[in-house]
Amino acid sequence: MRRVTVFGATGSVGQSALDLIARAPDDYDVVALTGGRNIAQLAKDAVVLNADVAVTCHGELHNDLKELLAGSGIEVASGDSAIDEVASRPADWALSAIVGAAGLIPGLKALEQGQTLALANKESLVTAGPLLMETAAAHGATILPVDSEHSAVFQALVGEDIAAVERIIITASGGAFRDWSLDDLAGATLAQASTHPNWDMGQRITVDSASMFNKGMELIETKEFFGIDPAKIEVLVHRESLIHALVGFTDGALMAHVGPPDMRHAIGYALHWPARGHVPVERLNLANIGSLSFEHPDPVRFPALRLAADVMEIGGLAGAVFNAAKERALDLFIDGRIGFLDMARIVEMTINKMSANDGLQNAQFSLDNVMHIDALSRIRADEAVAKLG
Ligand code: NAD
Ligand code: MG
Repeated sequence: MRRVTVFGATGSVGQSALDLIARAPDDYDVVALTGGRNIAQLAKDAVVLNADVAVTCHGELHNDLKELLAGSGIEVASGDSAIDEVASRPADWALSAIVGAAGLIPGLKALEQGQTLALANKESLVTAGPLLMETAAAHGATILPVDSEHSAVFQALVGEDIAAVERIIITASGGAFRDWSLDDLAGATLAQASTHPNWDMGQRITVDSASMFNKGMELIETKEFFGIDPAKIEVLVHRESLIHALVGFTDGALMAHVGPPDMRHAIGYALHWPARGHVPVERLNLANIGSLSFEHPDPVRFPALRLAADVMEIGGLAGAVFNAAKERALDLFIDGRIGFLDMARIVEMTINKMSANDGLQNAQFSLDNVMHIDALSRIRADEAVAKLG
């Protein structure tokens, strides 16, 4: 029996993971499930999977969750510190599927316990990649990527020497607005940005896909996770979302990872790693699919890719600025306070302001510094709104 914890269990990735775990209940001993406002789902899953403890990040929902779990024998906890605490409990495998930089500390705590961390939470790698990778190394812990592109690259690299990698190509569906004009993008609404052509995901990553901030984050994620020169990382628009990534080697071979757009593949790979288990995703019939298409991304309509390249060039804590400013800009777009294209403008203004004044490159990569830069960047992003004009 493997002891497993799922952070963000009530979300899109979390629910896909619970689906896999529930199919083989005798294989897993569920330590903790964490969630947010959807305590009905959290309580239901905690009972079905017989978790030791269920945690909501919202302290005000503590008593409601307790009521839902009354008589079950399942422990109830709440608040950010409770999530950090359960991350420190003994477990073999943890899935980090919280959305946003809030996933950073639980991920670090799990690594400090030497757990295998299946990482869907890309924001933590963008914000503090070196800190996560160093923490894993210091505690003999393993990080397994659960973003579909990064799982694909990871699988293409099994048995390979990273020194023989010439390029890594991550694909992008192009999101909801792949074919929209710049004029139309300026007026894009939240509802329009919240539907994805191929993937069924949480709202925040769906909007980030429409702006291609998601792909910008994934560029940085690739650099941090695989330790590869950013000049070797490319984005290719592939509207069918069947090839998730390709790795090019020094002998000219290009290894592609092909599969249906279903996160249970990447989650299942990390769950069964280093073996391959049975994962119930659709089996592709390539003859029925017929053809696949590829094109370059448009840097004018989707400035997020250029901003991510700038961030990799600046280095240091610039990733923390990029992520925090993007999270704040996304909040403002979701609240209807700024337009769709304003998100990239706010992120760019925040990066410029922070890199001019705050010594991003030379700052120490401590958790305190990361949290400070994250908080300051959110303030700078709010200040940038007034200057939008
Ligand atoms: P989601 O919004 O569906 O779920 C997020 C989960 O995190 C929920 O359980 C929510 O309760 C919890 N949560 C939200 N804010 C929290 C906070 N402040 N503290 C603690 N918990 C909090 O998101 P998702 O689509 O499942 O994405 C989760 C992560 O995985 C994100 O980092 C996303 O970028 C990444 N990811 C998602 C997909 C996908 O297919 N959905 C694919 C690749 C990567
Ligand atoms: Mg992805």
